[in-house]
Amino acid sequence: MSHESLQIDAERCIGCGACVEACPFGALRLESDLAVVDERCTACGACLESCPVEALSLPAVRAAEGTPQARGVWVWVEQSAGTVHSVSWEMLGQGRRLADELCVPLTACVLGHDVAHLAPAAISRGADRVLLVEHPELAHFGTLPYAAAMEQLVRRETPEILLLGATSRGRDLAGAVATALRTGLTADCTELSIDPVTRLLLQTRPAYGGNIMATITTPQHRPQMATVRHRVFAQPVPDPTRQGLILPLSVVLPPESLLTTLLSYVPAEEDVNIAEARIIVSGGAGVGGAEGFAPLRELAQVLGGAVGASRAAVDAGWIPYPHQVGQTGRTVQPELYVACGISGAVQHRAGMATSRVIVAINRDEHAPIFSIAHYGIVGDCLQIVPALTRALAARLAR
Ligand SMILES: Cc1cc2nc3c(=O)[nH]c(=O)nc-3n(C[C@H](O)[C@H](O)[C@H](O)COP(=O)(O)OP(=O)(O)OC[C@H]3O[C@@H](n4cnc5c(N)ncnc54)[C@H](O)[C@@H]3O)c2cc1C
Repeated sequence: MSHESLQIDAERCIGCGACVEACPFGALRLESDLAVVDERCTACGACLESCPVEALSLPAVRAAEGTPQARGVWVWVEQSAGTVHSVSWEMLGQGRRLADELCVPLTACVLGHDVAHLAPAAISRGADRVLLVEHPELAHFGTLPYAAAMEQLVRRETPEILLLGATSRGRDLAGAVATALRTGLTADCTELSIDPVTRLLLQTRPAYGGNIMATITTPQHRPQMATVRHRVFAQPVPDPTRQGLILPLSVVLPPESLLTTLLSYVPAEEDVNIAEARIIVSGGAGVGGAEGFAPLRELAQVLGGAVGASRAAVDAGWIPYPHQVGQTGRTVQPELYVACGISGAVQHRAGMATSRVIVAINRDEHAPIFSIAHYGIVGDCLQIVPALTRALAARLAR
């Protein structure tokens, strides 16, 4: 494996030997009172903090045009307790397309503990190889250990593209890794493609509240990093006959990445994942208060759906954040989206406009939500929703 090597500033080095002690691979030694690094260096960064005079550094992974050093498309496979977040499969589908265009391999990065069973699942969804990193400290997601592990993998192999899902964890990890590598990161992309001339990743995302689409590139640094929102792309159909390479790798988690101790893991009381729901009944400021969500819950229950909300309702404390739909909430694409007392601000529409059928209930006939609704009901949602629930319950009971 090629890797970027540690850099030692001879002007600054005072020959104290602290880095020699800190190196887990025995790659550092003192020569004529100066630190010297050899080929055993894995660029893990464990020595950086030990130097009292900041004489050690790891270079940013640079790739000037035409430099063949950065190769391959990588996807971080996000898992929790051994179950993969479906956005990662969506990313593998996109990664496969990009890797084929670039004629490079697609690599899935599986990090965790007792997660080996995910490697064949990643291969069946398009990965050519899987970097499998198992470590007890990676059993639960933590930004610092996960970022340290990802950074080491990237520094060893210098992929040209690294994709992550724009989940809470993916956003957290992507920011930390991009900062450590001093590379570019485009968040919340809705489209990814390859420039056929430069081979650069074209990362397209909504900007200015969704009013324009911006295409962003990372011409000078590697990897080109992007997060992509859940449910923007379809999942690839798994092919259990696909063959691939599974590479178990070890990483060194430096002490500064283990500053926090996990005492216990308590799953959220209400496990909401509106992004997966096929039917969503959503409430906004127009429902009037937390109690205004009760009839929406009943309608959602009758339809077998989930409850969503606008940011106004979440900010008012009527319903928790995981229910929020929109630019700073979840992107959803259900078969049916019922918007109750929601005006339809551009930031809300950014998260639900591609729903298959949109029903809007609003007492203001000029509310912007009607411009994207397939069916509109002008009136008081607190009266209309219970009436709809009764009618639908009666019809579904037949
Ligand atoms: C950077 C940024 C990010 C944002 N991100 C998001 C986001 O992710 N999601 C989001 O939703 N918003 C987001 N917003 C906020 C967004 O701009 C709007 O303020 C918000 O969507 C408004 O929520 P609302 O439609 O519930 O409230 P309002 O705009 O106040 O609309 C309430 C609607 O209810 C109707 N109404 C009132 N009473 C009734 C009734 N009894 N029956 C029927 N209709 C009734 C009114 O006619 C009105 O149309 C963001 C804003 C910014 C600046």
